[in-house]
Amino acid sequence: MLLKGKTALVTGSTSGIGLGIALSLARQGADIVLNGFGDAEGPKAEVAALGVKVGYHGADMSQPAEIEAMMAYVEQDFGGCDILVNNAGIQHVAPVDAFPVERWDAIIAINLSSAFHTTRLALPGMKKKGWGRVLNIASVHGLVASAEKSAYVAAKHGLVGFTKTVALETATTGVTVNAICPGWVLTPLVQKQVDARAAAGGISNEEAKKQLLAEKQPSLQFTTPEQLGELSVFLCSDAASNVRGQAWALDGGWTAQ
Ligand code: NAD
Repeated sequence: MLLKGKTALVTGSTSGIGLGIALSLARQGADIVLNGFGDAEGPKAEVAALGVKVGYHGADMSQPAEIEAMMAYVEQDFGGCDILVNNAGIQHVAPVDAFPVERWDAIIAINLSSAFHTTRLALPGMKKKGWGRVLNIASVHGLVASAEKSAYVAAKHGLVGFTKTVALETATTGVTVNAICPGWVLTPLVQKQVDARAAAGGISNEEAKKQLLAEKQPSLQFTTPEQLGELSVFLCSDAASNVRGQAWALDGGWTAQ
């Protein structure tokens, strides 16, 4: 119960990695505010079953005014946010000269600018309390590139740069700011890419998964939301109080190549 008495806001936590991180933080006693689209009742019940207080706000992370409303809700109902996990993210795959402008704008807004808005609004409270954790869920694509992912790679590199900057601005405080850089994790976001590969190659879903891993991830294993949750718990611990401005890969060796 490392995190009893703390409140964690996890953006994009109705699914995938965000939900995995929310559950790991809740297992350590943190109260949780969920955010994201789709069914919220299932995820809320899963978190509540761990015996912590759980809230939900449906802010669209591409909309600064909705983010402001979400932060006001966390302040009012939970007394502010001690742990901020900037996780909401989307993907679109296309060559840059065919990249839809609207998708570029959405990816930059959701995968990058939303972290600026949540952070600028959460930091004053964290500094006042003398303790805080900001975890930015970037990606291996915050460190290296892949073709046809220009907006995503730009946003994730931006998020890693943002992480370093805010870590420097908070370096003498009890607030730490770090990024986590997962390799392939089998969530709905990646399943779409598996499906596209299976359809394009006329191969099975299992074969498409194998090919996807073999291309980039030397362990040939998907990283799991649970592993990312446990890394998040570590970064919230006192042992990690001097880990600042890092982009911590959990990528099966992807970026070692
Ligand atoms: P996912 O699609 O399973 O979950 C994304 C979450 O974000 C969902 O809860 C969704 O409702 C929410 N969301 C999407 N748009 C939103 C918006 N406008 N406002 C609020 N919420 C919104 O995806 P995931 O794989 O769990 O991805 C989570 C994060 O991890 C993303 O930032 C992604 O870039 C990153 N990531 C994923 C992988 C991977 O292999 N899956 C690898 C590296 C990084």
